[in-house]
Amino acid sequence: MKRTWWEKEKWPLPPDLWIIRIEPGGPFEFRAGQYATLGVEHEGKRIERAYSIVSSPYDESLEFFLELVPQGILTPDLFRLNKGDALLCRKIAKGRFTLDLRSGRTHHLLVSTVTGIAPFVSYVRTIYRDWKNGGSPMPGNHKLYCLQGASRSWEFGYREELERYSNEVPWFKYVTTVSRPWEDSNWKGETGRVDDVLRKYADAWGLRPEATTAYLCGNPNMVEQTRGILQRAGWKKDAVFEEIYFQQAKGEGAGAG
Ligand SMILES: Cc1cc2nc3c(=O)[nH]c(=O)nc-3n(C[C@H](O)[C@H](O)[C@H](O)COP(=O)(O)OP(=O)(O)OC[C@H]3O[C@@H](n4cnc5c(N)ncnc54)[C@H](O)[C@@H]3O)c2cc1C
Repeated sequence: MKRTWWEKEKWPLPPDLWIIRIEPGGPFEFRAGQYATLGVEHEGKRIERAYSIVSSPYDESLEFFLELVPQGILTPDLFRLNKGDALLCRKIAKGRFTLDLRSGRTHHLLVSTVTGIAPFVSYVRTIYRDWKNGGSPMPGNHKLYCLQGASRSWEFGYREELERYSNEVPWFKYVTTVSRPWEDSNWKGETGRVDDVLRKYADAWGLRPEATTAYLCGNPNMVEQTRGILQRAGWKKDAVFEEIYFQQAKGEGAGAG
């Protein structure tokens, strides 16, 4: 466990979403797709939660994309911190939500709701760096296809950056979809929840279960719906990876983004 300090970037995100960059203050090894454990000390007690790392292992600072849960225990405390304040970060990254490079499947379907884009940004930043360096060790013949859902377009967080990559490189495609277009009158893109548009894009991109690993990240309802759709379309259990960010409180069913 070590102390570290951080920078906060809010604009142009809505008030309940923000990006932080922290200096781990020493070596911090991780693979794209893993998470760090962040926390604060609250009345003499440590409160900690898992947060997917947005940055690439090539970057010096660690970046996170956070959502305020007003009734939550940790996020209101994290939200109150200002640039230069300290927070706790465990020394070891964890998680197995890393790119599947062993199965032989070379297509990777990345599906997320809002902050669930974090590990996918890390994949893409890392592979982009390799690609710029002559394609070693990645991307090889691997291709990434990313679908991100949110209620409104200003919640995407990394849309500009990911669209830039998808316009530049041959190995990455990115589509965003908004589930409440009536609250976002300027939105001209795809509408519906990610699970509503999943089949359309899987077909358009020619993704077949035998050649594609799927990665589902974020809201538990989205993960459940999407897992069901993929399984009915022929995806085997071992070809669907999941990172579920929280357990739905009882009685809350809707809103998969
Ligand atoms: C592997 C992993 C990676 C994660 N990465 C991220 C990340 O990159 N960014 C991020 O913001 N969060 C991420 N989370 C979620 C994070 O760990 C916390 O659960 C979240 O920040 C809420 O913490 P809290 O203490 O404020 O709320 P808690 O006190 O833990 O939760 C209070 C209540 O709110 C519900 N809840 C928790 N989160 C949400 C939510 N987002 N929307 C609606 N209800 C919610 C809980 O089910 C609970 O009923 C990740 C979780 C896991 C397991």
